[in-house]
Amino acid sequence: MTLLRQHLIDPEICIRCNTCEETCPVDAITHNSDNYVVDAEKCNSCLDCISPCPTGSIDNWRVVQKAEAYSIEDQFEWDELPDELELAEEEGDDNQIEASEDEASAILEIAHSGQGGKVLAPLSAAHPYINLYGRERPITATVAGNFRITDADTESDIHHIVLDFDKQTFPVLEGQSIGIIPPGEDSKGRPNLIRLYSVASARDGERAGVNNLSLTVKRVIYDEAGKTVQGVGSNYVCDLNKGDKVQVTGPFGATFLMPNHPEANIIMICTGTGSAPFRAMTEYRRRHMSSAPGELVLYFGARTPGELPYFGPLNKLSGKLIDKQLVFSRLPDVPKEYVQDRMLVQGDKLTQLLKSEHTHIYICGLKNMEKGVESAFDTICGNKGMNWETIKGAMRKTGRYHVETY
Ligand code: FAD
Repeated sequence: MTLLRQHLIDPEICIRCNTCEETCPVDAITHNSDNYVVDAEKCNSCLDCISPCPTGSIDNWRVVQKAEAYSIEDQFEWDELPDELELAEEEGDDNQIEASEDEASAILEIAHSGQGGKVLAPLSAAHPYINLYGRERPITATVAGNFRITDADTESDIHHIVLDFDKQTFPVLEGQSIGIIPPGEDSKGRPNLIRLYSVASARDGERAGVNNLSLTVKRVIYDEAGKTVQGVGSNYVCDLNKGDKVQVTGPFGATFLMPNHPEANIIMICTGTGSAPFRAMTEYRRRHMSSAPGELVLYFGARTPGELPYFGPLNKLSGKLIDKQLVFSRLPDVPKEYVQDRMLVQGDKLTQLLKSEHTHIYICGLKNMEKGVESAFDTICGNKGMNWETIKGAMRKTGRYHVETY
């Protein structure tokens, strides 16, 4: 009987952002209102979808008998992934599997050797609620505020948006995202896809004790190639007026969550709207744990102070609460500096933090930032005789290394 290493998506972690479906070159990924799933008959394991996934939910594999691969209908029903195949039970059972233990072990090894395996939340994170509202049954929020938080004379048009849920239940944690359904249809006449936005406020509201949350949204006016476009979701959100009603789904995200442990050191590295979850985490610490012994360190890059969202309020935060490293790449008469450059300057501090089992790393922002940050950690560790890949592996296994890029 032929074994298959079946590609699956973890429904508990998936944030339904559609990135995988858009990326798959053979149309093996599809979705319904509940889950994103992989068609075993179409998937050729090319792995093109793995790195664009912002959560790692895409990087899941199970060894199954080919004839009994999970169908897409099976996967639509799942709330969680099925257990791994139990090799010990299968050994010698010809009806189940025709492979020696060595062969099967090798297959399982491959199955676990994706780009990182299952992503874990920090051990001390609060329990997140996910997928309470889906596309078929969204929750309606009311816009309580919308204002620009970057200088008017810059191209970077980033807005702070406050959504009010009134008496409805919509529990979120710092690090989670919500979905916004832009009204209308796409160019193929299908309803517009949900757009994901990170929650920028603490779990107890943009204003403590009020049933609201905030978002940090950048108006997309150029695509990745610099061509003029009008991003559907971002323009819709940035143009919302106070009192407008918005269809919201989610919350999403069960791993990119803040540790609640007061000893936890949190290293936050971001550009642009990647700062949203870090604003949320910092505000939670400020409100509820301001004397926690764990350190907060923020590396935040922008072209200029005028393009750095929340520049003014960030500067007002006490240095005792958070070490703010704001770096700029387009200041006149000053050499360009990126977050990874400042990290290199702070190599001693970072290696000290990396030695602690209480240190957590979060990277959030545009996709292209991850490589430079990884390379900086590699250099910093190498300079001190430490091995970054080993440290990162250990951090991932204990839910202390998190990347969300889009
Ligand atoms: P689309 O209409 O989908 O795209 C129009 C064109 O612009 C396309 O060609 C597309 O390739 C290109 N494009 C899309 N995004 C960009 C970009 N950033 N830069 C250059 N070209 C682009 N966005 C935020 O503003 N704030 C957030 O907090 C935030 N959080 C996110 C969290 C997650 C987990 C994910 C997956 C995404 C997040 N995003 C966030 C991105 C957001 O979901 C949308 O992708 C973004 O707003 C663009 O959507 P759009 O509908 O405006 O553009």
